Amino acid sequence: MSDESQELGITESKSHKPGEWYAEVVKKADLADYAPMGGFIVTKPRGYALWEAIQDALDGWFKETGVDNVYFPMFIPESFLEREKDIVEGFDPEVAWVTQGGHDELEERLAVRPTSESIIAPFMADWTRSHRDLPMRINQWCSVVRWEATETKPFFRTKEFMWQEGHTAHASNEGAWEEVWTRLSQYERVYEDVLAIPVLRGKKPEHDKFPGADTTTTVEALMPDGKSVQGATSHNLGQSFAEAFDITFSGEDEEDRTAYTTSWGLSWRALGALIMTHSDDQGLVLPPTVAPTQVAIVPIWQEDTKDDVLEYSAGIAEELEEAGFRVELDDRDERNPGFKFNEHELNGVPLRLEIGPYEVEDDEVTLVHRPDNEEAVEDRAEIVDAVDTHLDDVFDKLYDEAEANLEENVREAYSPEEILGTIGKHGGYVKTSWCGDEACEEAIKEKIAAEIVMQPLEDEGGETAGEVPEPDREECGVCGDPADQIAYFAKSY
Ligand code: AMP
Repeated sequence: MSDESQELGITESKSHKPGEWYAEVVKKADLADYAPMGGFIVTKPRGYALWEAIQDALDGWFKETGVDNVYFPMFIPESFLEREKDIVEGFDPEVAWVTQGGHDELEERLAVRPTSESIIAPFMADWTRSHRDLPMRINQWCSVVRWEATETKPFFRTKEFMWQEGHTAHASNEGAWEEVWTRLSQYERVYEDVLAIPVLRGKKPEHDKFPGADTTTTVEALMPDGKSVQGATSHNLGQSFAEAFDITFSGEDEEDRTAYTTSWGLSWRALGALIMTHSDDQGLVLPPTVAPTQVAIVPIWQEDTKDDVLEYSAGIAEELEEAGFRVELDDRDERNPGFKFNEHELNGVPLRLEIGPYEVEDDEVTLVHRPDNEEAVEDRAEIVDAVDTHLDDVFDKLYDEAEANLEENVREAYSPEEILGTIGKHGGYVKTSWCGDEACEEAIKEKIAAEIVMQPLEDEGGETAGEVPEPDREECGVCGDPADQIAYFAKSY
């Protein structure tokens, strides 16, 4: 390796120092920089392209399922925020305030939105007259600000983060539940089919719900270091916001009724999960679904073969581009092939095509998979189909590895010692029986910083929507009192 390529490479190890390794990948793969204010980041073109890939997928699915995009102001008057008491209490420690405009003190403080229920709900109230106006489904792509007290980390936890927030109103609780599951399923799909990350779906325990919500449902992803990531949330807000903001409608019988509302959000934390799940000590690893460049073509020539190799490579690049792949023909003169291989590895290009004089002579192409360097030689004439198949193979490899990690790391434990020991030794999820008392979670948290990250769901429709199934054991895995719920403990991001 030349000195140059060493400089390019990642120096920290994912298994030994995941935190430092993650920061290095984000920086060296050119995804983001740290902003001058602590807790804020600057998203660079390659990082933003990943966010756009998620946006494109989700936005399309939202629109197919009756959601319209809107945009609301980034400021919320304090009096609006105060109308729903749980929101005020829940977000109070994290709200950034504007108190001055130009040189003048404002008459009323303005909150920089930490989430927009309090500014959107009053307008929904205005726009809802009769049952014919419902369901109402709107979404906005924007950023929000939460002055996080805990340590920040690019994408996973930043003080300002990009997200989408969907807000809906329904005539019935069943309608609201259906909405909650539709969005949770779309989040599950974006993780599994776009990011190649399997997730668990469930709900948050009562004490950890979104402020004002009846139920907070979540998709959780397990990182290779054994910590869980809350991937996205979908809240059934019941009637608390509708009551606070007066979202009422006249029913078919002309009676006035209060609506049911939901909200749901996915942030760029999904990018944190993406980077953390698949990448390695050589740098970023991306599934082809989101990779800004899916195929890097690296021609390998000597002076006497240069023209032939470049012409052959350019023909392949053109054919692949026409077929719709995102291709980069790396014909830079000033870099040698070794440097180029390293750079494309660092940047997470899923498939590398190596083309030298032998390939030209034999009408072939050598393909190398990013995640494991597996090599294959394919016929030039079949290159479009071959690339398609190999990109699918790369996706499957990434998904399968993440799935194996998840499957191997859900364990059961039924005493505090066993819970602490299992998480301490293996990380991952520990499934246990729980009495429902927050003190039991605290007892574990104090000792090992693991919490109840989710509870599985009984049923997604009907009477038991949002309920947690009965546990296998009758005693709480922490305190031994009668238990009526299942809980999953894990350390989390
Ligand atoms: P919430 O409105 O609290 O339910 O959050 C919606 C989603 O945003 C969560 O599922 C998180 O994945 C994500 N999220 C919350 N806080 C942050 C943060 N500080 N930085 C990045 N993502 C966040």
